[in-house]
Amino acid sequence: MTTEERHHEVIVLGAGVSGIYQIKKLVDLGIDAIVLEGDEDLGGTWYRNRYPGARFDSESYTYGYSFSKELLDEWHWSERFSPQPENLRYLNHVADKFDLRRHMRFDCRVETMTWNEAERQWRLDLTDGTSYTARFVITSLGPLSAPTLPRYEGMDEFQGLAFHTWAWPKEPVELAGKRVGVIGTGATGIQVIAEIADKVADLTVFQRRPNWSTPLNNSPISAEEMDQIRARYDEIFDNCSKSPGGFEHVPDRRGFWNLTAEERRAFWDELYAQPGFAILAGNFMEIFLDEEANREVSEYIADRIRQRVTDPVVAEKLIPKDHGFGGQRLPLETRYFEAYNRDNVHLVSLQDTPIERFTPTGIQTTAGHHDLDIIVYATGFDAITGAYDRIDIRGVGGQTLRDKWSDGPSTFYGVLTTGFPNLFMVAGPQSVSGSTNFPRAIEGGVDWVTGLLQHARDAGRTRVEAEADAEEEWVREVVKAHERMLFRRSKGWFTGYNSNVAGHQEGKIRYQAYFGGAPKYNAMANQVVADGYRGVALS
Ligand code: NAP
Repeated sequence: MTTEERHHEVIVLGAGVSGIYQIKKLVDLGIDAIVLEGDEDLGGTWYRNRYPGARFDSESYTYGYSFSKELLDEWHWSERFSPQPENLRYLNHVADKFDLRRHMRFDCRVETMTWNEAERQWRLDLTDGTSYTARFVITSLGPLSAPTLPRYEGMDEFQGLAFHTWAWPKEPVELAGKRVGVIGTGATGIQVIAEIADKVADLTVFQRRPNWSTPLNNSPISAEEMDQIRARYDEIFDNCSKSPGGFEHVPDRRGFWNLTAEERRAFWDELYAQPGFAILAGNFMEIFLDEEANREVSEYIADRIRQRVTDPVVAEKLIPKDHGFGGQRLPLETRYFEAYNRDNVHLVSLQDTPIERFTPTGIQTTAGHHDLDIIVYATGFDAITGAYDRIDIRGVGGQTLRDKWSDGPSTFYGVLTTGFPNLFMVAGPQSVSGSTNFPRAIEGGVDWVTGLLQHARDAGRTRVEAEADAEEEWVREVVKAHERMLFRRSKGWFTGYNSNVAGHQEGKIRYQAYFGGAPKYNAMANQVVADGYRGVALS
């Protein structure tokens, strides 16, 4: 390939949910663009997360793309919360339908990205030694694509199979008859544990901090129901666009304190039986803001756990004591708590009996040794900024993005960051993509980025950068929205903390996502456009 062939007006990084839609938009506009994808195929999160139990926790029909009526009309979601294989089939279907694959280059892992001020372009060096150049780079790296492993002594010595859920092997993993250990009880761990509990000989769950979790209440979607959903798509997407989290569920506005405690409990009984995030997104807003309201709903959910787990000692260990309900990203579950009623499932609380080290045959805690054949790391991600940190991105004057963001990201609407011209982020830090139903947020994000790109091209501008003042103003807005919420005190990834990442400090918030809700974010971002891209310097 010649140097010219490796130059494109736009290079998109990542062929996941957002990269697929981004390249579609660029191709439709006739812009010379390609996608570089590090994996050997498309799909991003749904290509990678093949662990048993992986599925949407957004209603499938709110997760699909909304941009093509034809696509909406022809796709049948088989379940309300569709599983990973179907999700990956869907993304492949979209790419094939719109002939997008030919604009994608796979096995292309970008190692460094360097801004060339004289040429006004980016140079991208790949791990295989090749390089590309582009006037604009659009990152569609995904908020949860940089998996992190714990750092326990002896991890390399373990002789059995061991993998992170994100890297669950493509080949079937034989679970029958095996002694399996799962470390981590976030949304991923909770899905895996519930799914494999009755398929393995023995399952040991190593839990550091318990998470609140409520039923997913999944069900199949019949052909008739799918027809009804199709007829309602405009309404569905309209509803999602009005809700803070991008779901059909909307907060209850009756006012927490206007109802009696009995009325509230009766309401929660209804929500607990409803699918998806109804219990969270359809609840009273006060539970996220008011300590007393939060305490009451937390006690309600704790009681539900106590009702479902036979052994009261185990039940107490599964109930979070360090944060209230909704104080971290809520995992949804299917018979998760019942798994602990099985004789072959054992809960190890790492708060009571920490891991001392790994051994060739298992895990040694302060209470004893657990013999294991397989260890599953459901230990999460260096969320939102991790994927950026893994590329050496050098902007104006050689400043690295890693340095600029060492204490946490700083962006203009999660799309631009000063000092890194012509770098557009879809689902970037401090946007709403980390805090909402992802595809609903990224469609808006892609449209916004594409609009800005068109605006620059139409005006014959070759350099686009956020103004420093405007960026500072947006960061203040992000902090303000965050400070209102009770989860500001949590240790989950919403506050940007990950104990496995060097440089992260417990108790120090990294403001990684905008929590003011998608409608407010969209209104403000649209106002920027209406004001002629106020805060964006074009030259
Ligand atoms: P996570 O929520 O960050 O959970 C990681 C788990 O691993 C936590 O329980 C954590 O304990 C534990 N852990 C981390 N490091 C550890 C260590 N060194 N020793 C012991 N335990 C350790 O990660 P995740 O479960 O992968 O979920 C991440 C996000 O992915 C979710 O919040 C969600 O947004 C998304 N997701 C979505 C779905 C879906 O249904 N669509 C499914 C899965 C994930 P601590 O809590 O003590 O840190």
